[in-house]
Amino acid sequence: MSISVELIKKCATKVEGHADDIDDLAVFTNSREQVVNGLFVPIEGERFDGHQFLEQAIQSGAVAAIWTEGKALPENLPNDFPIFYTDDSLKGLQQLAAEYLKEQSPKVIAVTGSNGKTTTKDIVEHVTATAFETYKTQGNYNNHIGLPLTILTMPETCEVLILEMGMNHFGEISLLSKIASPDIAIITNIGESHIEFLGSREGIAKAKLEIVDGLKPGGTLIIDGDEPLLTGFRSEQHTIMLCGYNGRDHIQITQVTADINGYKFQINENEGSFYIPLLGRHNVKNAALAIAAAKQLGIHCSDIQKGFDHLSVTGMRLETIHGRNGALIINDSYNASPTSMKAAIQTVRSLPGFQKRVIVLGNMYELGADEEKLHKQVAEDISPPVTHVITIGEKAKWIAEELASNEDGITIAAFSDKTLAIPHLEKLLAPGTVLLFKASRIAALETLVAELKA
Ligand code: ATP
Ligand code: MG
Repeated sequence: MSISVELIKKCATKVEGHADDIDDLAVFTNSREQVVNGLFVPIEGERFDGHQFLEQAIQSGAVAAIWTEGKALPENLPNDFPIFYTDDSLKGLQQLAAEYLKEQSPKVIAVTGSNGKTTTKDIVEHVTATAFETYKTQGNYNNHIGLPLTILTMPETCEVLILEMGMNHFGEISLLSKIASPDIAIITNIGESHIEFLGSREGIAKAKLEIVDGLKPGGTLIIDGDEPLLTGFRSEQHTIMLCGYNGRDHIQITQVTADINGYKFQINENEGSFYIPLLGRHNVKNAALAIAAAKQLGIHCSDIQKGFDHLSVTGMRLETIHGRNGALIINDSYNASPTSMKAAIQTVRSLPGFQKRVIVLGNMYELGADEEKLHKQVAEDISPPVTHVITIGEKAKWIAEELASNEDGITIAAFSDKTLAIPHLEKLLAPGTVLLFKASRIAALETLVAELKA
């Protein structure tokens, strides 16, 4: 992750100060972050302009900076402090990342899609790590600043780099893809997110397909084979692999069975049998996308399974926990949208072997003017074998009300506050009972889970 002065010079229009005898540098953009031998890259944001913080960056360990031409330098800059001028420091950062990638030349796997980017990135990383030195996007560093920073912190030993690419607008994925020049590009799915900027699901698909703009000639595009907006895509320069449940798919998923920890499935009529220790049926598809990528890198099925064995769920995302009295808790309290709430309910409905299935739902926020309708629609997905529904909060109560008017076989209770629900929930804890907890982050339903776990 040390960036050479020669490489930085390549991206600069002009160099001032004494740059010749400085060692390789570590890139940073946050002037408060402590670094050793730092190259400070000031970024101009909506509220602050990083160019105002060079002195602070120097105190934090900067020994050189990239600079936007025309921006004022601090008056008492140390003598000979190396400044690498660019037309625009952000573009300089992006160009430096692209140059560093060219120099290091790991295989690059790019992951985009409306949902499942981070999960798929993590699965791909587990699988490729069985055969290669890997590095991946940390957390959600998936935009025009986070992606170049990810690249620039990649260790020199990295053989496979897995990059998450996020976006809200047209043109953003194209830019990221051109910086990263992936060998393999994955589009997980086409959903509804950011439809306000992209107009329609067709618009969303078009924006995601921009990932092909930087895909190397001869590279592979891996897509959701169950999404008609993607399967029609053609490119003469690239291999296209479809992953899904259709016979024409290159990776066809068959014979899916669930247990309380995950899913077993087959690929292509006995080509391989796999198990993923993750709940949520969508993860079978995410795993299939990872299998496609692994096959392109020549990784064998047995190694792919080894990678799956080590998958761990990120906390509070369909996480299985032992409850008191032998009950099973599924903690999905990290966050909630209508789609993910319905998916979690579906997961609980399909688990084998439970007599009682209890769904505990809290408020969903940021749903705008349609929030009441969107809460009520969740009730459409609730029916036996679900036995109990417990809602917490004023918005979640809409789900209970809608359900009460349509469904007979389910016991329904609505509480205004989560602590009031505890005695009610405690009575339900028993062997053969599964309880799901799901709500927006603000509701913090994990505090209920903490009360009820073994
Ligand atoms: P973000 O845009 O916030 O970075 P992301 O695309 O990285 O999101 P994840 O964090 O991996 O997505 O997953 C978020 C949720 O999306 C999951 O909890 C699950 O409900 C849903 N999800 C995951 N994979 C898929 C998929 N292949 N298809 C549909 N929904 C999915
Ligand atoms: Mg993400």
